[in-house]
Parts: sequence; structure tokens; C-alpha cells
Amino acid sequence: GERVSNLDELTFGLCGEYVVKTEQGNEFPAQLVFRTTAVDDKGRLKVDDHLRVEGQEDIYAIGDICGTEDPNLAYVAREQANLVYANLAAATASDQTTKPWAQNALPMKIALAVGSQRAIGLTASGDLAPEPHIIGFKSRDLMSGMIWESMGLKSP
Ligand SMILES: Cc1cc2nc3c(=O)[nH]c(=O)nc-3n(C[C@H](O)[C@H](O)[C@H](O)COP(=O)(O)OP(=O)(O)OC[C@H]3O[C@@H](n4cnc5c(N)ncnc54)[C@H](O)[C@@H]3O)c2cc1C
Repeated sequence: GERVSNLDELTFGLCGEYVVKTEQGNEFPAQLVFRTTAVDDKGRLKVDDHLRVEGQEDIYAIGDICGTEDPNLAYVAREQANLVYANLAAATASDQTTKPWAQNALPMKIALAVGSQRAIGLTASGDLAPEPHIIGFKSRDLMSGMIWESMGLKSP
């Protein structure tokens, strides 16, 4: 990487006409510049306990880009999305009670559908998960029904 030499000439997160200059003498024209100092050693965005990106007021990170201790799973991303949505709604409501994200608290580690009638999975503690439970939420329709439902629609 090359160290940026003109940070004080740039406005972050606002469209404009910028030239990013480096100490090596290179210049990069840009219309939008973000600071990425809030990135952890795995390249993910550092977040606070409400998944708000470090140093930002109104930007949240969910899913694989979010720097919590959770495994990179679609189901983690969905639960994080639900939490941020609920917190944004609560913040604009009268009681304003928001909830923090509980890291690594989700019960399942792996849920694998084996056809529509069988399944295998591991719980977060490493035990075998009950098969009927996984068939119920995954094997039956690979969770497509849940997605339709989340959009207020009926699965075809
Ligand atoms: C082979 C495999 C199997 C998996 N199986 C499971 C499973 O059984 N269960 C489970 O829960 N999870 C599973 N996962 C993990 C799951 O897919 C991810 O955790 C989940 O997709 C993360 O969602 P996300 O929205 O954070 O990121 P993504 O789903 O990666 O979405 C990010 C999107 O951003 C787009 N994008 C990237 N850069 C840019 C850009 N500059 N401009 C515009 N768009 C951009 C990408 O194209 C992508 O569509 C699996 C992953 C893999 C690879």
C-alpha cells in the first residue's frame, strides 16, 4: 500500500472531485473517498455493540463484512439485519430502547440439508443438532419460504 499524503484536502463520504495523493508521488482522481481505518486485521469493518461502524453515526455493518466474532453465515447476516432494523425502528419510536448484538450467541454452527427429508447439523457447542429441527427450517424448502415471508409474500 501507499500512504496518502493529502488527507486534510479530502472530504470523506461526500461526492465531489478529489485527487488522492500518495507519499510515493502517485495521484488518483476520485469522486467519493472513504476512510477505511476502521478495518480489523481480517479486513472487516470494526463495529460497536450495536453494529454501528466505528467512527460513523448512521452506518451499520452486517454479514461477512461485519467485524464481530461470529462465523460468516447467511443466518448470522439475517439475524444482524433483523437487529439493526429493529434498533433503527426503536430509535425513531417513543421509548427508544435498542438492543446490543450478542456475539457468538446463535445456537447453530452448521445446518446441512440432505434432500428434503434428511439433514445433519452441529450446534454452536459442537454437538449434533436434532435432525427434525433442521429438516423443519432448512431441508423442507432450503429456507426459501422464510425469505418470501420476510417480504410479506406467500411462497409459490
Ligand atoms: C460455498 C458456500 C456455502 C455456504 N453455505 C452456507 C450455509 O449453508 N448456511 C449459511 O448460513 N451460510 C452459508 N455460507 C455463507 C453465506 O453465503 C455468507 O455468510 C452470506 O452470503 C453473507 O452475506 P453478505 O450479505 O454479508 O455477503 P454476500 O452474500 O457476499 O453479499 C455481498 C454482495 O455484495 C456484492 N458486492 C461486492 N463488492 C461490491 C461492490 N464494490 N459494489 C457492489 N456490490 C458489491 C457481491 O457481489 C455480493 O452480491 C456459505 C458460503 C459459501 C461460500
